[in-house]
Amino acid sequence: MIEVKGLYKNFGNLEVLKDINKTINKGEVVAIIGPSGSGKSTLLRCINLLETPSKGEILIEGENILSSKTNVNKIRQKVGMVFQHFNLFPHKTVLQNLTMAPVKLKKMSKAEAEKTAIDLLRKVGLEEKKDVYPNTLSGGQKQRVAIARALAMNPEVILFDEPTSALDPEMIGEVLDVIKKLAHEGMTMLLVTHEMGFARNVAKRVIFMDEGRIVEDEDPEKIFTNPGHERTKEFLNKVL
Ligand code: ADP
Ligand code: MG
Repeated sequence: MIEVKGLYKNFGNLEVLKDINKTINKGEVVAIIGPSGSGKSTLLRCINLLETPSKGEILIEGENILSSKTNVNKIRQKVGMVFQHFNLFPHKTVLQNLTMAPVKLKKMSKAEAEKTAIDLLRKVGLEEKKDVYPNTLSGGQKQRVAIARALAMNPEVILFDEPTSALDPEMIGEVLDVIKKLAHEGMTMLLVTHEMGFARNVAKRVIFMDEGRIVEDEDPEKIFTNPGHERTKEFLNKVL
């Protein structure tokens, strides 16, 4: 589904990603963990073309997305993204947040987009909120709307960048439950998270990043009980 080859990203003189090579298969849930500043967000943002890599290749279903011929909107339709701070459109209702992109980018009819949107809101338990504005929702509800909005484009893969880090503790569970449900349905997901218990239970693989490199890519049980690298051990000792 996703193939990253020899990926580098610099911001000026700062080398943020260094020779990232990784394959994500269809239906896999892969968690990315690692200290702040290690390049986790930048990696996701490169895969979604929110950042332009300095060097390397990213293939999505075999298509090189860094080619000048690539249609960026097409790639963003295939690769959904959920952010820490939700990024909902404040002046649109919940329903409009979900229907805007499908109508604009997928040329879906308004009626069809609304029907899909309502089905998705039901799926995340928020059908009754369809006509309200985001600022009337709790953080957990906002994030569930953001997930439904990503799903509305019928993506091949969803990237989550710390989807629960901005939430009050009592709201984390409701968002993780939605992500878990998607995992069981076979959605391909790449998830940057500090929820180590969730990574351990739901992810098929856990990637540990440090200083712009992938240090370790392991089975969750193995990485949490017997990490292969000293740096992974140090990090886990701090967060567990
Ligand atoms: P993480 O998500 O693991 O905390 P990031 O990918 O956000 O790490 O950041 C990695 C490094 O890149 C950090 O040192 C950060 O300050 C830097 N960085 C991220 N985005 C930018 C940017 N737009 N301009 C300059 N430096 C950036
Ligand atoms: Mg980050």
